[in-house]
Amino acid sequence: MPPNGVVPSELEMASLQPLLNGILKLPPAKPSQIPRPAAANLCSNRLLIIDDDPDLGRLVKDAAQRVGYEVFVTKNPSAFMEKARTWQPTVIMLDLGMPGTDGVQLLRGLGEHSCVAEVILISGADDKVLGSAIQLGRARGLKMGGVIQRPIQLETLSNFLIRCQAAKILLSEDLANAITADQLFLEYQLKLDCHVARMTGVEALVRWRHPVLGVIQPDQFIPLAEENELIHRLTDWVVMTAATQMAAWQVDNPALGIAVNISAKNVQDLTLPDRLHKFCRTAGIDCASITLELTETGAMREALQMMDVLTRLRLKGFKLSIDDFGTGFSSLVQLQKMPFSEVKIDRSFVIHMMNDESCMIIVEILIDLASKLGLKSVAEGVEDEAALHSLISMGCDVAQGYHLSRPLAADRIPAFIAEYQLIRGVTKAPKAHFPSPFTNARAWRRRKTATRPHTPLSALA
Ligand code: C2E
Ligand code: MG
Ligand code: MG
Repeated sequence: MPPNGVVPSELEMASLQPLLNGILKLPPAKPSQIPRPAAANLCSNRLLIIDDDPDLGRLVKDAAQRVGYEVFVTKNPSAFMEKARTWQPTVIMLDLGMPGTDGVQLLRGLGEHSCVAEVILISGADDKVLGSAIQLGRARGLKMGGVIQRPIQLETLSNFLIRCQAAKILLSEDLANAITADQLFLEYQLKLDCHVARMTGVEALVRWRHPVLGVIQPDQFIPLAEENELIHRLTDWVVMTAATQMAAWQVDNPALGIAVNISAKNVQDLTLPDRLHKFCRTAGIDCASITLELTETGAMREALQMMDVLTRLRLKGFKLSIDDFGTGFSSLVQLQKMPFSEVKIDRSFVIHMMNDESCMIIVEILIDLASKLGLKSVAEGVEDEAALHSLISMGCDVAQGYHLSRPLAADRIPAFIAEYQLIRGVTKAPKAHFPSPFTNARAWRRRKTATRPHTPLSALA
């Protein structure tokens, strides 16, 4: 039995499937295919509630605690946003119509902070308003779990909370097995060196082929792996697999490098540098071929232990990149103190920079900052030709994005690199000559001449 005494019944497990389908946007599975979770509670359940009715808050808190949730109730929007960011709630209940603020504003805030909790709306509003609030939440990347109408039926609420809990237990248990059962696989996204117009690297991105639910994207399971320490085994598997793959590619492309994502939890582990070094030795590749990408939020939790691990990784030859740069709260002093070799500009700026002047300015400043600090600049989220040209003109070192390549299966990478060089047609192209790998040479030229000129940066100031 889990510590909270709640084991989902067969019936609850069957009703869990539509919920999982909703979260993962997958076709329904047959009831016989639904696996039952082992009775273990591997991760904490946290419910964050914002409602201005203290009686309702108390009632819901009581009901949620009875089914094993930690609960935080507030009527203050700032306290709510702060908790949503720092406390990692698994479920959020949000009153749509509070005086002074409204649920839609809060949904926007949650979306901006890439909140991963299941969001339930509490409302007495009509169906149309609710429908558009749910759509808005989804458009902002939130997991909209549904609506609870006032007056709240506590039994309905408890059942919903149990199902959310069960979904997590189910995935956590399965994830532990997935690593040994060979269900994880890597896709690789190519990176373009803007100075020589060649594909000189790839980023390894993990996916999970779940036997029932199909392919699950990393945003859905990396947080789970981080919560219950599976992240160490997962990272070992990713680095080992990527290093072995790299050794095979380097036979024909000796200069190719590979980037692997690591979690903030990994860099708290003092044994990480030696393990990763061993994996590279076993695969027969140089540690310098691997760039370890750590998200900015993870990188800026400045702790002695993390500094120790990062410094030793650098001494062993690994390169270190700050991923999603611009979304966290790093100070220039921290950036200068940490042993990073690369800054990876978050895709949210790059995707919008051709239509949004402030994004363009941020990208330009970050490229400049990286260059002045002696760090390599990488822009991810390059979705069109104009953005690529703009980045090149700003002096960006490396570009990555759907315009250059989608994440691909390993066996497609060598042909993709070769095709790119072939379309380019010359070995040392002038900077402006960047072929798109999605088109043949003639189509490329047509598109290139059709590309409208972008606003020069000097005109934006
Ligand atoms: P990330 O490291 O920032 O990876 C880039 C993500 O942006 C990838 O999503 C990629 O598919 C997507 N992307 C690339 N180019 C474009 C573009 O032009 N437009 C748009 N809209 N998106 C683009 P993916 O594969 O879903 O990965 C999401 C995140 O999951 C990664 O973000 C990374 O933080 C994490 N992740 C992936 N693999 C691993 C892993 O092996 N270990 C760890 N710890 N985290 C991983
Ligand atoms: Mg990354
Ligand atoms: Mg990133």
